[in-house]
Amino acid sequence: MEYARLARTYQRLEETSARLKLIEELAGLFRDTPKALLRKVVYLCQGKIAPDFAGVEIGLAEKLAARAVAEAAAVAEEKVQSALRRRGDLGSVAEELLAERGARRSHLTVEEVFSHLEAIAQAAGKGAQTQKITALAELLRRATPLEARYLVRTVTGKLRLGVGDASILDALAEVYAGGRANRVPLERAYNICSDLGLVAETLARGGISAVERMEVRPGNPVRPMLAQRLGTAEEILAKLGGRCAVEYKYDGERVQAHRLDGRILLFSRRLENITEQFPDAVELLQTGLRPKRAILEAEIVAVDPDTGELRPFQELMQRRRKYGIEEAAQRIPVGLFCFDLLYGEEGDLTRRPYLERRRALERAIKPSERLQLATWKLVASAEELEAFFEQAIADGCEGVLCKSVAEDAAYQAGARGWLWIKHKREYRTELQDTLDLVVVGAFYGRGRRRGTYGALLVAAYDPEADRFPTFCKVGSGFSDEDLVELPRRLRPYEVSRRPARVDSRMEPDVWFEPAVVLEVVGAEITLSPVHTVAWGRAREGAGLALRFPRFTGRYRDDKRPEDATTVDEIWEMYRRARGRAVRVAESEG
Ligand code: ATP
Repeated sequence: MEYARLARTYQRLEETSARLKLIEELAGLFRDTPKALLRKVVYLCQGKIAPDFAGVEIGLAEKLAARAVAEAAAVAEEKVQSALRRRGDLGSVAEELLAERGARRSHLTVEEVFSHLEAIAQAAGKGAQTQKITALAELLRRATPLEARYLVRTVTGKLRLGVGDASILDALAEVYAGGRANRVPLERAYNICSDLGLVAETLARGGISAVERMEVRPGNPVRPMLAQRLGTAEEILAKLGGRCAVEYKYDGERVQAHRLDGRILLFSRRLENITEQFPDAVELLQTGLRPKRAILEAEIVAVDPDTGELRPFQELMQRRRKYGIEEAAQRIPVGLFCFDLLYGEEGDLTRRPYLERRRALERAIKPSERLQLATWKLVASAEELEAFFEQAIADGCEGVLCKSVAEDAAYQAGARGWLWIKHKREYRTELQDTLDLVVVGAFYGRGRRRGTYGALLVAAYDPEADRFPTFCKVGSGFSDEDLVELPRRLRPYEVSRRPARVDSRMEPDVWFEPAVVLEVVGAEITLSPVHTVAWGRAREGAGLALRFPRFTGRYRDDKRPEDATTVDEIWEMYRRARGRAVRVAESEG
């Protein structure tokens, strides 16, 4: 298959932001792709050559890529740099410079491009830089200008087509599963293996039934099951059929541990490989986990080395570092509180009910001081639940997680359903729960904030539409350090126009590709003529917005933009708050 076919699709994807049109384009591409190549084409559409968790980064620095462009176009490097300053995008620069050399017929195939990209990603050690530049220059010399645009963007990690994984799944369903309505099994498969290429290949080769038979496998991170939230013990019990399991909600970072081939791998909530950062946790599991092949979930929490008491989340974040890992492990040791087992001696456990998984977990762990099972209890009354909640708070936890003990309470990978319900202290006061929102834009600061941002435009996530509608402007809660840090953090995501997946009626000074997630609190959710969350749902011509938003100081680096608070969650909070307001008014009236 010619790479030109892919490049043409990229171009059309770039020119549209209408979701159905995007899906149609992708479906057309997948239809034209030989089955044996589908896996690679899917990765390339994601701007990658392997699933994220594999840790294969093409990520060539722009400076090196610019050198390859100069070489391929036979111009001085300075010419590339000055064109880059003018255009701000090396892909367009490559296109322009190669076009100046005159048109050529391309014979680049997808396979060739893919293997060159692999070579670029794998080159390591002495001479790696030269190898990478040579490999890219060779590709570019044979590429048409349009192909060069996308090759350069792919190697520098800036493909940014505006298509999310959800749209790719839709297109696959369209071509191989008889329509988008049949996306659900594909989604489940993706949620349990985190490898879109693998799902596509399985589907193309074995049809939808092969996809339905897919199981979790140690080595492939599973998208985490998430919890809904409720404010009172009564509501929770009513929702869970009168009885449930309650577990401490530890305030740390979620970690998914995989054991295979004698190794332990740790994945973060957003499925990044964080094994290197927690050598102490790896050791705890090497000795304390019985099954030779396993997938286990735990909350990793910082503990006080002197007293063994739990420490706040912020301290744990200091363990997220590239250097000085051993020293940090000494200073801030961690403990693991295990709460689920997705794979064990019994094989895939995700379809088994909670109580069965909990028993398997108990068999799988040899507890020690720093490797423990989440404290839990079965309760059948609001009083018992309340008492357990108070005990959790007293023991340094954030609250509790209430879990369904129904026979069909399976592990729902990637879903925020009602089988798990969280209950935190904040819900009982006026304060709403915190929200995790994605930065999509910024407004320049004035006065004291000159030179940095005055406020950020933040958005929620709408999984149905795979879009990011804006929810508020956040200007408070930022420390002086944050104000220095923010432009640095956000710069890699700066783009010149509204990203295709962002829904905004506001025009900030700077736009960002959705990437950075911040934790925000606010006073209440109100109707808004400008913000686009749940647009038209409560009232025509209005969306929802957060009043008096404030940054809590927590960067949710453990969340992908698609893990941000969803439109439905916000809608639910709005509805509940309004329900309360109506009840108060009625009782007062
Ligand atoms: P939050 O911001 O409230 O932590 P979240 O969006 O990260 O929420 P939720 O699904 O809403 O995720 O809350 C569940 C989180 O609580 C899990 O991701 C996990 O990190 C943590 N947790 C702590 N203790 C437990 C437990 N016993 N069982 C499940 N999750 C737990």
